[in-house]
Amino acid sequence: MNRIHALLDKQRNFFATGATKPLNYRTEQLRRLKAMIREHEEAIMEALRLDLGKSDFEAFATEIGILLEEINHVLKYLKRWSKPRRVKTPLTHIGSQSRIYAEPYGIALLISPWNYPFQLAISPLIGAMSAGNCAVLKPSELASHTSALLARLLGQTFDEAYVAVIEGGVETSNALLAEKFDTIFFTGSVGVGRIVMEAAAKHLTPVTLELGGKSPCIVHADANIKHAAKRIVWGKTLNAGQTCIAPDYLYVHESVKDELLKRMKETVDAFYGDPLADGSPYPNIINDRHYNRLKSLMEAGQLVYGGRTDERSLKIEPAFISEVGWEDPVMQEEIFGPLLPVLTYRNLEDVIREVNARPKPLALYAFSESEEIQQRIIHSISFGGGCINDTILHIATPYLPFGGVGNSGMGGYHGKASFDAFTHRKSVMKQTSRFDLPFRYPNAKNALKRL
Ligand code: NAD
Repeated sequence: MNRIHALLDKQRNFFATGATKPLNYRTEQLRRLKAMIREHEEAIMEALRLDLGKSDFEAFATEIGILLEEINHVLKYLKRWSKPRRVKTPLTHIGSQSRIYAEPYGIALLISPWNYPFQLAISPLIGAMSAGNCAVLKPSELASHTSALLARLLGQTFDEAYVAVIEGGVETSNALLAEKFDTIFFTGSVGVGRIVMEAAAKHLTPVTLELGGKSPCIVHADANIKHAAKRIVWGKTLNAGQTCIAPDYLYVHESVKDELLKRMKETVDAFYGDPLADGSPYPNIINDRHYNRLKSLMEAGQLVYGGRTDERSLKIEPAFISEVGWEDPVMQEEIFGPLLPVLTYRNLEDVIREVNARPKPLALYAFSESEEIQQRIIHSISFGGGCINDTILHIATPYLPFGGVGNSGMGGYHGKASFDAFTHRKSVMKQTSRFDLPFRYPNAKNALKRL
């Protein structure tokens, strides 16, 4: 605990010097971060292989390449985002000017999860640094190789007075949360999100919460089934389903269910061959606890495809499960694994009602060729973000803010939204000294005569 106090003192002192604020400093540090990632690509892929069995291809696409793109985007626009923004002033304030200044909060606490353990630690850090904050990062202890690597690489690259990593589990997380930070950025489960917000409330610290939940994937009767099958299987099997925005369950129009499932089975075969075979590019489940949890979720309903398991490698073959209802455990919790329950519907209104009766999803995917159906879904269901006729890809563009709503989180990030998440917008009105209109003063008529 003394280490945490000492570290925070160091960061406060450093932040107080103002060194982190100039644009030059921020861009230089972001370039160092980018160079660090580039230089250690191999080591990052190795850690991800050890923690999650990710193939180099998947590790690069979802954890490394996406960060390099994000940094490039920030470097391109940071000057523009950082400029004080002049805004209009009403006639009542005649003579004055109004500007909004971007100001870093100060010391940011970043707590990250295990499923994309490199990307989800560094992406918020890019936001914190771009806005001029100092940061303390607490990666997930469950992805232990990546956590150790983050500590080593960031430790080599930055002075801890600016960016520091504190490794550890729940106890460390709680020790950090007991301290006063200027902003907290948490990515993880809904339950821990509540704990974080409660802790933040004690210090009135603003929070960004990137949480989870059950993200529906709706396939309407008029969808392009061929494309839908591939895009859904890709989104569901990426990182073996351990993706916060993976399609959690499928809601398919009864008239296209058989064709969709047939094509989805063919797609899994084409993507992975035998996913359980040694050397397959298909990732494993993070640990025994989640492996056993997922196995037990497969007990309800009827397995229509896959579901084989291998305890030695902790791999679970993608599994499609039909004949399930909302009361089954697999429909009660976020699955966070390669199991896809399949519900059918006849009327879209039933889908809208059922989804709206539950916590607001982090993501929603809708497949339909009809503009009218697409718009109806967008406007009648509240969800964090999502795609029409695709899955996952909305997260991979810096132009779309990413985040949840309601139970799935609050606040957003990526691109400009990341800069904003770590920035206080300070509004300043600058008055003229050339004259002083008396109308606002008490007894203005007489005052006018006297002055
Ligand atoms: P988690 O909530 O268990 O852990 C996240 C972090 O919080 C870890 O660093 C962990 O050490 C810490 N933590 C765990 N328990 C704690 C406690 N009691 N008190 C304080 N800190 C604690 O989440 P996870 O299992 O690592 O990740 C899976 C969850 O994260 C899923 O719900 C998933 O949907 C969500 N997620 C969301 C996003 C997003 O961007 N919205 C991204 C990835 C994962």
